[in-house]
Amino acid sequence: MNQNEPAGDYIVRAIARQGTIRAFACRTTETCREAVRVHQLSPLASAALGRLMSGVLMLARDLKRAEDSITAIIHCQGPLQGLTVIGEGDATVRGLVSQPVVETRYIRPGKLDVGSAVGAGTLTIIRDLGLKEPYAGKVRLVSGEIAEDLTYYLAVSEQIPTAVSLGVSLDQQGVRLAGGLMVQLMPDAGDEAAAWLEQRVAGFPEISYLLGEGFNPHQILDLLLGDPEIRYLEVTPCAYACHCTRDRMERNLITLGRSELEKMAADPNGIQLECHFCNQHYHFSQAALQNLLQALTANADGD
Ligand SMILES: [Zn+2]
Repeated sequence: MNQNEPAGDYIVRAIARQGTIRAFACRTTETCREAVRVHQLSPLASAALGRLMSGVLMLARDLKRAEDSITAIIHCQGPLQGLTVIGEGDATVRGLVSQPVVETRYIRPGKLDVGSAVGAGTLTIIRDLGLKEPYAGKVRLVSGEIAEDLTYYLAVSEQIPTAVSLGVSLDQQGVRLAGGLMVQLMPDAGDEAAAWLEQRVAGFPEISYLLGEGFNPHQILDLLLGDPEIRYLEVTPCAYACHCTRDRMERNLITLGRSELEKMAADPNGIQLECHFCNQHYHFSQAALQNLLQALTANADGD
């Protein structure tokens, strides 16, 4: 292992097959462990959120600026009820599960039934690139297994033929290993490249198996693409992190509107807000809320 292949969580981007294919692979073990710690996730919630976070982290490598973001929202009828993941241009990710504790079910021994825990529903992807309107696309879920759903989304909504594989393996201690890979055909790749990729992906071992065997993201791409000319581009460390601040919480309060704020400001104890992505608490005293109301009034007068 050289210094370009860090020991912790990271995403690597690569180009292969004379530029007809671009690929991403990531290891997200610590990222998933942090999500499990923050939200006290049960095994199925850990696997579903871990997979979606890994996928979004790779999608977010296309973002040009650190402050751009990709949000993936799953509305679903299975026991998990829903998932939200936000990946930022700085390779941080955060997320939550609507129902973090659900009964554990398996497809076969050792293989969690994520598809049933998610169930039928929709996947919405929102790209916020700092433009006036964020770009959003929505598809129905194919299987609830997350990787297939992202593949379907990319094919239908963005017309990019993509192979996605995501894996989170768990043991008694929690997340043992997590990661993923994403391979896309470039627009001029042609049918031959498409057939070649389909063949390579079919029967390729599961990500969690490969990580368990000690493969790092670089080696997983090597194994999948089998291209001695593969060109590795940047390597980016990734992590679970929330960017909430008191300022952002204050702006959220303001968007609730005057009457809601007045109700809160009537309480001599003020209010306690909690960020759902990191559980950070923010206390706003009665005086602070009254100041916000005054600022709102001053702004309204200025209009
Ligand atoms: Zn937060």
